[in-house]
Amino acid sequence: MLTDKTAIVTGGSTGIGKAIAAKFIENGANVVIAARSEAAGHETAEELGCEFVQCDVSDYDQVKALVDATVEEFGGLNIVVNNAGIGQSGSIEEMSVEEWQTVLDVNLSGVMYGSRAAMPHLRESDGCIVNVASIFGLVGGPGAPAYSAAKGGVVNLTRELAVDYAGEGVRVNSVCPGFVETPMTDVYLGEEQFYEFVRGQTPMGRVAEPDEISGIVAFLASEEASYITGANIPVDGGWTAH
Ligand code: NAP
Repeated sequence: MLTDKTAIVTGGSTGIGKAIAAKFIENGANVVIAARSEAAGHETAEELGCEFVQCDVSDYDQVKALVDATVEEFGGLNIVVNNAGIGQSGSIEEMSVEEWQTVLDVNLSGVMYGSRAAMPHLRESDGCIVNVASIFGLVGGPGAPAYSAAKGGVVNLTRELAVDYAGEGVRVNSVCPGFVETPMTDVYLGEEQFYEFVRGQTPMGRVAEPDEISGIVAFLASEEASYITGANIPVDGGWTAH
């Protein structure tokens, strides 16, 4: 499905990004994962059989260097998955202004930076972008205003870029997962009351495994999705259906 395609997966060292990288590799892609922690990045790259580039997605120069290194190594770029993200909890009064800014820098600006740095190459390859947004880009969530604002931004940035670049052969979509068991959610889902709240909000009555997100990302990145652009697809066990 992705044979000989070259893909960057930001935040590919753990959780959903790692599952996406594994799925892409299974489908024949050359994959470069990016994250801040070198130790985890190298470990995952070795485990999966892909490349790792250390990169903080909230720094445009580092993202540009990631794209340049990938193109240098593989001779082009077909797919960017803007997946790197951080969680946040606490109301706007409880959180600091600095925390608000950091969440927006990583979760929203990081997506713009990945898209901007890659676009000249994606234009050349008729490539595509898949963003990992969230149900909290589609509906409000409990106690995560910076996270929800950033993800809402990702959802509409996805639409905007899809419209802007459709004529140049570049597709842009996002997936909007509900709660997924990853290192990010460990601490929240470990609290029984919160876990029961999540189960109660989810018609399917359970959280997802990372592998339940990676398949749709691989599909959106493939030729099978050649007429899909500007879509923000919930993968949420029904959370946003009610
Ligand atoms: P995770 O397990 O914590 O993984 C996050 C990944 O992003 C790690 O590889 C992390 O590595 C990297 N990362 C974080 N900040 C970064 C930065 N500034 N620059 C580069 N890489 C960075 O989280 P996850 O649950 O898999 O989340 C992945 C994406 O899915 C996020 O965008 C998240 O918002 C979204 N999502 C998650 C859920 C869920 O329930 N888990 C639901 C909806 C959406 P380093 O820390 O080493 O940089």
